[in-house]
Amino acid sequence: MILVSLRKFSIVKTKTLKQDKVNVITLGCSKNLVDSENIITQLKGNDYDVVHDSNDEDANIVIVNTCGFIDLAKEESVNTILEYAEVKKDGGIEKLYVTGCLSQRYKDQLEEEIPEVDAYFGTLELPGLLAKLNADYKHELIGERITTTPQHFAYLKISEGCNRTCSFCAIPLMRGKHISRPIEELVKEAQNLARMGVKELMLIAQELTYYGLDIYKKRELPRLLHALADVEGIEWIRLHYAYPSKFPLDIFAVMAERKEICNYLDIPLQHASDTVLERMRRQITQQETRDLIAYARQKVPNITIRTTLLVGHPGETEAEFQELCDFVADMHFERVGVFQYSHEENTIAYDFEDDVAAETKAERANRIMEIQQEISFAKNQAKIGQTLNVLFDRKEGEYFVGRTEGDSPEVDNEVLVNAKNNYVRIGDFALVKITDAQDYDLFGELVNN
Ligand code: SF4
Repeated sequence: MILVSLRKFSIVKTKTLKQDKVNVITLGCSKNLVDSENIITQLKGNDYDVVHDSNDEDANIVIVNTCGFIDLAKEESVNTILEYAEVKKDGGIEKLYVTGCLSQRYKDQLEEEIPEVDAYFGTLELPGLLAKLNADYKHELIGERITTTPQHFAYLKISEGCNRTCSFCAIPLMRGKHISRPIEELVKEAQNLARMGVKELMLIAQELTYYGLDIYKKRELPRLLHALADVEGIEWIRLHYAYPSKFPLDIFAVMAERKEICNYLDIPLQHASDTVLERMRRQITQQETRDLIAYARQKVPNITIRTTLLVGHPGETEAEFQELCDFVADMHFERVGVFQYSHEENTIAYDFEDDVAAETKAERANRIMEIQQEISFAKNQAKIGQTLNVLFDRKEGEYFVGRTEGDSPEVDNEVLVNAKNNYVRIGDFALVKITDAQDYDLFGELVNN
């Protein structure tokens, strides 16, 4: 049962509507954002006027690209659909379409429970959505994606779906089996993005390291990395969503060799207790994980490792959780994110009893972040006095805000430079001397100011 039915939204405004204008709303992860960008690109290719995540009241058609990952995300998606269903009922919009993971997973229930929506589409049904809008799917636009991120960085989705069977994860239910995109197509897209001013690419997938096993019958991420690093104008390439088991170690050799490949790896590890890793079906042990991280740090000495952990999986005892705490305290990861287990239908773990109380899940997530906060603070303090290459994303208040090679947009640390006595163009790289540091932020002065 997904509808938490928070039908408390009411916007009462009717108005004369201009020619068709579409507002695409994106919820969820960067992979969903790329899907929205493909929707926008195709609609613009069909001469539609399109806006993204806009409060623009001129749009008479709304497309909500939903997330169906875990409870909180599902609730946000349902609330957003309900909000626009109300607007439609009040004459504020003419058409409402829903796509993305929640729609893929719960289409039948949604059709029954929110009939105001004109049509629901799955995650791989873009042509069908376009047809509803009397638009054609234009193959020639593949790789010509219009991005919604700041001009200097973009996400590049290298594959769709996942063949793994992690017990807690509903993603394969919504995204299907792993499908890699051909290297040529990805290089063409990267060249187009570079022509549009993109300097930084975040490589994303459900499972990055599986790349190539389907279409090339072997792991081809290293070859792809070399090909993307050769694209003129691309200066930073960042790896997200790597899977630890059977990790293709030659990636670290490419990272050490090519300056364009950031010394950065996002590798969700989820847990460190062998008994929990087994219940999670992660196909790796703590010792194998430690060996992998040690190898990475030996091959790429100043590598930034980001990981994601999951607390409160069914059966997780205090002792198993303590193993995870000890692991985090010992491993000194540069970046850590924590999720609380969400009991998701049709996942393997759904057959287990969801026996860890919600308060315990929350308390365990906090304990992990308390350990990490101290580690992050100490690592940041050690950067005081260093000069770092920073890519500037925006100006916020009295600061120019940017990121180092060790920071991905939206999720990691930032570097703040006071605008009073420093000037830098947004989208530019600049050297910054670090003068101060907090838990998750660095402060500094431009070197050649
Ligand atoms: S690898 Fe990631 S996307 Fe795939 S099943 Fe595991 S957690 Fe889900």
